[in-house]
Amino acid sequence: MKRNRVLSVLVGVVFCVAVMSLYRMLELMQGADPQRHGETHDVQVDEDLTRLQQKIDRLERLLNDNNHLVAMLRDSLLQRKASWERVKRGANTSADTSVSPVHLLPGCRLVEETANGADRRQLLDVYDLLPFDNPDGGVWKQGFEISYRGDEWNKHPLELFLVPHSHNDPGWLKTFDGYYQDQTRHILDNMLTKLTEDSRRKMIWAEVSYFSKWWNDIDEQKRQMVRRLVEAGQLELVTGGWVMADEANSHYFAMLDQLMEGHQWLQRHLGVKPTSGWAIDPFGHSPSMTYLLKGAGLSNMVIQRVHYAVKKHFAQQQTLEFLWRQSWDSSPRSDITCHMMPFYSYDVPHTCGPNPAVCCQFDFHRLQGRRVFCPWRVPPQPITEQNIKERALLLLDQYRQKSLLFRSPVLLVPLGDDFRYVESSEWDVQFANYQKLFDYFNQHPELHIKAQFGTLADYFDALHRRLNAAGTTLPTLGGDFFTYADRDDHYWSGYFTSRPFYKRLDRMLEATLRGTEILFSLTLAEMRRFRGDGRLVEDFPIREHFQRLMAGRRSLALFQHHDAVTGTARDPVVVDYGTRLFRSILNLQQVIQSSAHWLLLLDKTQYQHDQSKPFLQMDDVISAQDALPQKTLLKLGDEPRSLIIFNPVEQLRSSVISVVVDSPDAHVVEVESGRPIAAQISAVWVEPSRVSSEAFQLSFVAELPPLSLVVYHVTKAPAGSTPRARYTVHRRGNLPAVQTEHFQVSLPVGADTEALLSLRNKHVQIWSSPETGLLQKLRLQSGLVHQVQVQFLWYGTRTGANRDKSGAYLFLPGEEGAQPYSSSEPPLVRVSTGPIFSDITSCFQHFTHTVRLYHLDGHAGKSLEISNLVDIRSEVNRELAMRLVSDVASGNRFYSDLNGFQMQQRRTLAKLPLQANFYPMSSSAFLQDSQCRLSLLAAQSQAVASLRPGELEVVLDRRLQQDDNRGLGQGVTDNKLTASLYNLLLEGRRGVAQEVGGNSVEHLSLLAHLNVLSLSNPPVTMVAPTDSQLPKLRPFLPLRSSLPCDVHLLNLKTLEDAQEAGSPSQEVALLLHRKGFDCSSTPDPPPLCVWSAHEEVNLADLFSPLQFRSVRPSGLTLLHADDEPESAQPHIAPLRPMEIRAFRVQFD
Ligand SMILES: [Zn+2]
Repeated sequence: MKRNRVLSVLVGVVFCVAVMSLYRMLELMQGADPQRHGETHDVQVDEDLTRLQQKIDRLERLLNDNNHLVAMLRDSLLQRKASWERVKRGANTSADTSVSPVHLLPGCRLVEETANGADRRQLLDVYDLLPFDNPDGGVWKQGFEISYRGDEWNKHPLELFLVPHSHNDPGWLKTFDGYYQDQTRHILDNMLTKLTEDSRRKMIWAEVSYFSKWWNDIDEQKRQMVRRLVEAGQLELVTGGWVMADEANSHYFAMLDQLMEGHQWLQRHLGVKPTSGWAIDPFGHSPSMTYLLKGAGLSNMVIQRVHYAVKKHFAQQQTLEFLWRQSWDSSPRSDITCHMMPFYSYDVPHTCGPNPAVCCQFDFHRLQGRRVFCPWRVPPQPITEQNIKERALLLLDQYRQKSLLFRSPVLLVPLGDDFRYVESSEWDVQFANYQKLFDYFNQHPELHIKAQFGTLADYFDALHRRLNAAGTTLPTLGGDFFTYADRDDHYWSGYFTSRPFYKRLDRMLEATLRGTEILFSLTLAEMRRFRGDGRLVEDFPIREHFQRLMAGRRSLALFQHHDAVTGTARDPVVVDYGTRLFRSILNLQQVIQSSAHWLLLLDKTQYQHDQSKPFLQMDDVISAQDALPQKTLLKLGDEPRSLIIFNPVEQLRSSVISVVVDSPDAHVVEVESGRPIAAQISAVWVEPSRVSSEAFQLSFVAELPPLSLVVYHVTKAPAGSTPRARYTVHRRGNLPAVQTEHFQVSLPVGADTEALLSLRNKHVQIWSSPETGLLQKLRLQSGLVHQVQVQFLWYGTRTGANRDKSGAYLFLPGEEGAQPYSSSEPPLVRVSTGPIFSDITSCFQHFTHTVRLYHLDGHAGKSLEISNLVDIRSEVNRELAMRLVSDVASGNRFYSDLNGFQMQQRRTLAKLPLQANFYPMSSSAFLQDSQCRLSLLAAQSQAVASLRPGELEVVLDRRLQQDDNRGLGQGVTDNKLTASLYNLLLEGRRGVAQEVGGNSVEHLSLLAHLNVLSLSNPPVTMVAPTDSQLPKLRPFLPLRSSLPCDVHLLNLKTLEDAQEAGSPSQEVALLLHRKGFDCSSTPDPPPLCVWSAHEEVNLADLFSPLQFRSVRPSGLTLLHADDEPESAQPHIAPLRPMEIRAFRVQFD
């Protein structure tokens, strides 16, 4: 212990001496500088001062790292002390020795077993329990007969809240604007009139995207009426998201952003904060959403699309209302009260009670003569004095039956459907007839029912009052509600992949938006500091850029709708969404370009904004909403071309940057240090065996400090001076002729054609089939060898005239299951090796598949990069899947992520059909046994399954010619050339005594987290013009050091000014997410980068040298109502692993 302290002190002393001497040296250099003359002297002094400043910055950074190291030493000392104490106490030593020291790494989470019988039920257990036999339940087809005596409500009368709602999809069969014009604006107009007519009437509204559009169309008088309705509790804004977001494919960044967009709008225009969630149509439900809702201040929520067998079980157990808890949270902190609708749908026939034939008669919109009718062939009757008793009792019977599925006599009955209440007559028939029924109920106390229109807030208030009075609490539940089935074996696992091109475009916009938000906020902070008077730079188009940001937020938000990112809208609507995503990317790129321009200029007075001639251009160019990004061809000469690279992540990273140049030789220099950078020239393949003679790929390793902008110079180099990739081309049968003057291409013959292909870097070696080029096995530096075979497969759909077939929503594969992919032509396989990266590319008819190894030291060198380019446009009713077949003894367990936020255990169950065993994957999945873990990390959302032990597969694209009868009315045939990108990571596991069974909560490893971070937030490369008069640029390094590697800067977004609409305020939303990570796969030695448990959490230290004028903790959607008192110092309570926290900050 003493020795350790001495060591720390010693490190400190040595460091101080080193710092002092460096300072002295710098001073001497300055002093020795002879006098120079004129302008050159000024420039020289400027440059020297800048350099000095940067050197000091670097020293400070080192000092900071040193502090971090000391803190880590202190941690490890405390941990050792603790384990020594345990040994001394004679604790169970055998258990102690099995725990390796990495288990004590702050922040990492040991596997948590949540056994049966604990206070919380897990949905996985319910799945084990249920037979999934789908018996006929009578009138309630998927349920059971409900009977009652009639005196159940004598003591506590039934308290009914009938909640009128209209489900408005922001795009599905029509575009967002199309629906707005034809339906939504009329619904909202009528709402205003009809609610104002009678104060007993109520309504809830969910989609703020529509509400805000309508708001822009109405006058101030109407806005006042809206405010009055909201204040009076007649109109409730529920959830308050921009859309009712999908919960399978959407990423938590976008889920939160759309919620924030809606909440900020509501705060600004209505001054309200939603308290109840309403998600009746998303196709399955995720606890990530509940985490965000709870963090945004909501306390109750309603969900609907849950597997019918699960609903039935919950109804039998009276657990349709429960406290939904995060699986990883042992405290009630994240709990939210959740109401699950018991029946098939959210329409009127399936909400008043178990019998749809009866309930339909109480949907007065279906009265005879109107356009909609009851398919059960018993039409509704208008309520009259003659029939009221009979009608009221018939309805009461349904209410009573439904009520018995719940633990309290408070009853929620929604009244609405898709795009309901368009015509004013519909309002009249519904409200008038129900009011008569309510009046009748309320005049007959012997019926023991109190009936009224209500909002969700009314319902949940009454529910909680009743539960409190009865002294009962709701049961607690953990897990998720995937994969949804609405009837028979109709599992909604198709939409996990449908329209994969746009699912990928969604993530590209997300990454662009996040990067732009951060860079824009940093730019404004720098500008205020630069001016010194808190004002901004005049020529910089702040307002225009801020509006581009706001529009980008809203495009991404709109696309999170449950018919958008899901791929379940009509073709023209998909194009409308795609166009919005594409335009937003272009607009946001403009903001990045001009922010980077200003930040990089050494002399800020040289800044000029010219929209028509931007100073920087993107290297990756997207030309249309349905096109993949293409690289710009850079012409090289003797004058250097400047490349500017933005690192949008909060970690120092080594990334391989590739650009396309017109010369086979190029020289790369990091401008600031003048250091030449190792580079590699690779061929640009225009066809599988044809090399471009005009374009060459230049790749180099960029060292990118956190959130930095770094400048590189590229110049033409003497012939033969740049290392080139070497190629071997393989194909069974006839070898192609590959002609290239610039590259060495060998064609193997004889025995060489039979040997496995192999690549290696210093961390991994891989072997691939010489026939297909597909991966066979891999070996880690530690010696761990595992078989990991990549295979491609086709799924077809069911055959037969009257059989249901796969479509946009449903996956209904043929009985034969997956068929191995085969093509008439053997694939062409190219192996390339080079100093920066080596790869194997297999060119098949329907896809090009590349496995690449980077020769890098950091985490990027430890995983394989897998990329696919898929084109199945020639196929009919087929789906292409990529499968990994490994020898990992994973049993029937695997893990897939939910929204990139958390991992969820999955069990592949033989009692379920194949399509039920597919789950959504937004960013990762893994398999594991006691020795190793195999993680597949993805840059896009798609379906994932592990159908046999050791296997993991993802569906890459689907082409389906028919509708699957869920209202869309078309197949999915607008396929495109689609890219997908992954990292594959094999890690050894230590200290795991046995394979983890039961219900375990697991997290990604630290390495996997870092991989996902890099994969989802690629560096942004920009190009400066070829101009010898280029102004002097210097790198922008906003952070002195990386954030702790388990802390993610989720966003740093500038909020809108409270007074001036469309303008940025000085307030910035800072969102931090501390990741939970797995202990058993922590590398040895454990990384020193994690957030120390004993370190003081000082935001100013974390973000140094950025200075905060104020830091105010708030809710996740930054509502003023959730603001906590401002802290004088930027100190914050430490984040718990998995926690997301939001702060309203101002920079100094
Ligand atoms: Zn919908």
